Amino acid sequence: MVSFLSGLGKSTLINSLFLTDLYKDRKVLNAEERISRTVAIIKHTVGIEEKGVKLRLTIIDTPGFGDAVNNTERHIDDYIDQQFEQYFRDESGLNRRNIQDNRVHCCLYFISPFGHGLRPLDVDCMRALHEKVNIIPVLAKADSLTPAEVCRKKMKVTEIKQFGINIYQFPECDSDEDEDFKTQEQILKNSIPFAVIGSNVQVESKGRKFRGRVYPWGVVEVENPAHSDFLLLRNMLVRTHMQDLKDVTREIHYENYRAQCIQNMTR
Ligand code: GDP
Ligand code: MG
Repeated sequence: MVSFLSGLGKSTLINSLFLTDLYKDRKVLNAEERISRTVAIIKHTVGIEEKGVKLRLTIIDTPGFGDAVNNTERHIDDYIDQQFEQYFRDESGLNRRNIQDNRVHCCLYFISPFGHGLRPLDVDCMRALHEKVNIIPVLAKADSLTPAEVCRKKMKVTEIKQFGINIYQFPECDSDEDEDFKTQEQILKNSIPFAVIGSNVQVESKGRKFRGRVYPWGVVEVENPAHSDFLLLRNMLVRTHMQDLKDVTREIHYENYRAQCIQNMTR
C-alpha cells in the first residue's frame, strides 16, 4: 500500500480488506480512532480463508511516500529490493526447495480523490517502482466523489501510460474462454483505477450489519458494488488474479532483478 500523501486511507483499507478485528470486537464503536498515523513500514501477516482455501498474506503498510522526513521513497524501494535479494540468496543456497517467498507481488498505489487526477509526484513515485512490482492504482476515498466525478478521475488516471509507466496488465483472455469470463475480465480492466472506500467501523442499518461510513445524509457501504469497487479489488487480489500477480513478479520483475545481479557479479 503506497501513496504520495498520507491520510488517503491506506491503513483503513488494509483493515477493511484483510483484518477482521472489527468482527472480533463488536462492541468497539470508535475503532476508527485507534488507527493512528503510520510512521514506518509495517508488516501485517494474516491468514484468511477464501472459499475453503487457506491463504497466508503479508501486507505492507507504509507512510506517505512524500514524507520527506522519513524518506519513504527509498524505504519502499529498498524494501522490495531486499525481498528480491533474500530470495536470490535462498535460491542459490542448499535448501532451495523450501524457500519462503517474501517477494512483493503487488503494490496498491493510492491516488487522491481531491486533485485533478495524477500529480507529477504520483508519476515520480510510480516511476520509481513500476519495474520492480505490479502496480495497481486505486482511487482513494471514493465516497467523497459523485459517480460522474469518479468516472472523470478514472479517465484522467488512465493517462498514466503516456508517462511511460507500466501498471499491472490483466492477462489477455483466450478466445475459447466463455463469455461470462470475458465480460468479467473486461469489467475489471475498465475499473482501473479501482475506486475504493475503507472503514473500520461496523454500521447497523435497517436490521443489517456491515462495514460502512455514516454521514449526516446517509450511509456508505464498503462492500456495495454500487458504492465502490472494493469487492472487485478484493476478489481479484485474493481469488482470480493472485496467481497471475505471482507469475508476473517471478517472470518479469524478479527475473530483471536477477539478471542485473548476475551482470554485476560478472563485471
Ligand atoms: P493513511 O495515512 O493512508 O494510512 O490513512 P488512514 O487509513 O490513516 O486514514 C486517514 C483518515 O481518512 C482517517 O480519518 C480515516 O477514517 C479516513 N478514511 C479512511 N478511508 C476512508 C474512505 O474510504 N473515505 C473517507 N471519506 N475517509 C476515509
Ligand atoms: Mg497509514
